[in-house]
Amino acid sequence: MSAPAEAASPHTMNTYARLPVAMERGAGCRLWDVNGNRYLDALAGIAVNTLGHAHPKLVPALQEQVGKLIHCCNYYHVPDAERLAAKLAALSGMTNVFFCNSGLEANEAALKLARKYGHDKGIANPQIVVCEKAFHGRSIATLSATANPKVQKGFEPLLPGFIRVPLNDIEALKKATDGHPDVVAVFFETIQGEGGVNPARAEYLRQLRQLCDERGWLMMIDEVQCGMGRTGKWFAHQWAGITPDVMPLAKGLASGVPVGAVVAGPRAAHIFQPGNHGTTFGGNPLAMRAGVETIRIMEEEGLVAHAGEVGSHLKEALQTALDGTAGVKEVRGQGLLIGIELDRPCGALALRALQAGLLISVTAERVVRLAPPLILTQAEADEIVSILVPLIKTFLKEKAAP
Ligand SMILES: *Cc1c(COP(=O)(O)O)cnc(C)c1O
Repeated sequence: MSAPAEAASPHTMNTYARLPVAMERGAGCRLWDVNGNRYLDALAGIAVNTLGHAHPKLVPALQEQVGKLIHCCNYYHVPDAERLAAKLAALSGMTNVFFCNSGLEANEAALKLARKYGHDKGIANPQIVVCEKAFHGRSIATLSATANPKVQKGFEPLLPGFIRVPLNDIEALKKATDGHPDVVAVFFETIQGEGGVNPARAEYLRQLRQLCDERGWLMMIDEVQCGMGRTGKWFAHQWAGITPDVMPLAKGLASGVPVGAVVAGPRAAHIFQPGNHGTTFGGNPLAMRAGVETIRIMEEEGLVAHAGEVGSHLKEALQTALDGTAGVKEVRGQGLLIGIELDRPCGALALRALQAGLLISVTAERVVRLAPPLILTQAEADEIVSILVPLIKTFLKEKAAP
C-alpha cells in the first residue's frame, strides 16, 4: 500500500506518529480512505464514534442544528445543555453537570473541584490520590495526574498535590494516605484505557467508596474512555453498584462532536459558583444537540445492552481463537473495550492491521486495544477476529520472544 499524498502533514505540528493513510468518509463501522480502500473500524476514533459513522438518525439532527444555531456562549441559557445534563444525572444517579470540550478539560475541572472542596473545608494544601498507569490528559494539571513518564517528560515541573498508589490495592492506598490530613479526593479510571485496559475490581471500587465516605473524600472516577455505554452499562463503575461524587466524561458522549462533561453528585455539585470556572465553547448548542441525540439514539436502539452482549461475544471469540498461543498473556476488558496483552512490544500491529483493512490501536506498548462503535454487529465482531487473530499469531512467530 503506498501512502496517498494527503497522508502527509508538513504544516500541522508533529504531535502524532500517524499511520500512512487519510480517511475520507464513513458509514456504520466502515471507513474509506482517500484512495477508496475500505476499513473495518474497531477503534471508533479512540472510543469516540459511539454511533459509528454517518448514523442515519444523527446526521439529519446535526444538519438541522447547524442551520439553526452552532454557538451562542454561556451568557445565555442553552436548553439542550439542560436536557443533556438532566439525562446524564438520571442515568448516573448524580445531580449536576459542567460542560466543556474534551477529556482533559473535564478532568481539569474535576481537579479544580477537588481543590476547592478542600479549600472550602479549610485545607490549604489539598492532596489528590491518583493511580499508577493512569492517563488523564495532557494539560499541565492532567499530565501531572497521569502516571506515564513519557507523557510528563519535558514538561516538568509537574504540579504538586498528588499521591500515587497502585490500582486495586486498598491497603496500599490506606498506607500511602496515613498521616496525610490534607487528602481531599481519590481520582482514577474504572478501566484504565491508555494504561493498557486495566480494570479496577468491583470489590476495590466498593472499598474505595466506603473509605471516601468515612474520610470525607470525593470519589472522582474518570470515565472519559470507559463510560457512555461502552462496557454494557451506562457507566463502567455501575457494575460495582456504586456512585461516585464526580465523574468526568468526554469521548463517546456526542458520537464525535467534541464535548466533555463533569457529572457531580450532591457532595460536589455546588462547589463551583459564578466566576470559579468556565469555558467559551463548552456546552454550545451544536455539541449539546449531538449529546442529546446520541443518548436518544442509544436508548432507541438498545445500544448499551448490545455493547455488553456483542462485547462478550467478541472477547470470548478472541479468547478461544488465541487460547494457548505463546506470547498472548491475557484477553481482558468489558463490553466493547477490550485489551489483548502480549508479552512483547507490538506497536507494529497497528500498521499491519491497517494494511489488512482493520483499525485498531496499541496502548501501553504491549496491549492491542479494541474500542469499536457500539453499533458493531456480531458478524462484524467475527470479522475483527478473523482479521486480527492471524495477524497476532504471525507477528508472534516473527518477533522473537523477549
Ligand atoms: C482520552 C482520555 C483523556 C483525555 O481526553 P482528551 O479529550 O484527549 O483530552 C482523559 N482520560 C481518559 C481516561 C482518557 O481515555
